[in-house]
Amino acid sequence: MVKHIHIIVPVYNEEENIGLLVHALHEVLQPLSGKYSYEVIVVNDGSSDRTLEVIKALAKNDARVKFISFSRNFGHQNALKAGIDRAHADCVISLDGDMQHPPELIPVMLEKWEEGYDVVYTLREEDDSSLDFVKRQTSNGFYRVMNRLADLEMEKGTADFRLLDRKVADVLKDLTEYELFFRGLVKWMGFKQYGIHYKPNERRAGRSKYTFKKMLRFAVQGITSFSIKPLYIAAYLGFAFSLVSLMYIPYALVSYWMGQAISGWTSMIVTIAFFGGLQLCILGIIGLYIGKIFMQGKHRPLYIVQETNL
Ligand code: UDP
Ligand code: MG
Repeated sequence: MVKHIHIIVPVYNEEENIGLLVHALHEVLQPLSGKYSYEVIVVNDGSSDRTLEVIKALAKNDARVKFISFSRNFGHQNALKAGIDRAHADCVISLDGDMQHPPELIPVMLEKWEEGYDVVYTLREEDDSSLDFVKRQTSNGFYRVMNRLADLEMEKGTADFRLLDRKVADVLKDLTEYELFFRGLVKWMGFKQYGIHYKPNERRAGRSKYTFKKMLRFAVQGITSFSIKPLYIAAYLGFAFSLVSLMYIPYALVSYWMGQAISGWTSMIVTIAFFGGLQLCILGIIGLYIGKIFMQGKHRPLYIVQETNL
């Protein structure tokens, strides 16, 4: 029996890459046409360049190209979610639209799937020169913090390049949580998972859409989505410092009795400044979680589809 595959490609301003990618996917998947049929679902995440026109032109001549176009930019993770929500094939494969995720890996993923794995994820090789130093270091740092704070053992270098079996995709469809973090969610779900190492290619054209600011935000969202340990840390810190300040009271009293109270100005200012900063920091951490509750409580859709040929 021929199995059906849906390939999901989220794109944001990738006018130069999308044609190349669809071509590369055909090259890889056509030889397997005896075993698999496939469709590519391109999710246009509110691009401001000609991406949508390019996709429509491709779809016109090629029935295997489908698209979902958002009303504005909703972000990479929500674009992935839209693809998964609409996909109904036996398995769903997601990859980036900039050719950094090599399509040649797809047959290997399919083999592992046939062996019985429900999730085949990929791990970016460490010693690659195609990724710049800062990006690699921040990424590694993120996985270290994530693994320490969240009760989730994530391998560093996991990306949104993975194969999901139908039953796994069905579970993801039902999740409507705000600030999606697929890497963590997929790991958290369990099932039989297998990781494949790969070397990423250079981005073909255009620039990375993840600026440092966006990456930092993504990291904070990921961590706060999976762990409330930062709240505990805040509470413990508060507790520890109240103990320390309790010990300060006898010192202050003794100074007073010895008539040296006025000399304490410097330590007073330093303490006030320090605790002021600490309190703001802890309030900020609490605020992050309240913000999450607020956003989730509104039950807004994660994305709005403006146009699709699915
Ligand atoms: N992307 C998206 N919406 C966004 C940002 C990025 O759909 O708001 C897409 C982008 O077009 C690409 C993928 O997500 O296909 C990964 O983004 P990018 O290559 O810029 O990230 P990097 O590889 O630099 O981490
Ligand atoms: Mg990229």
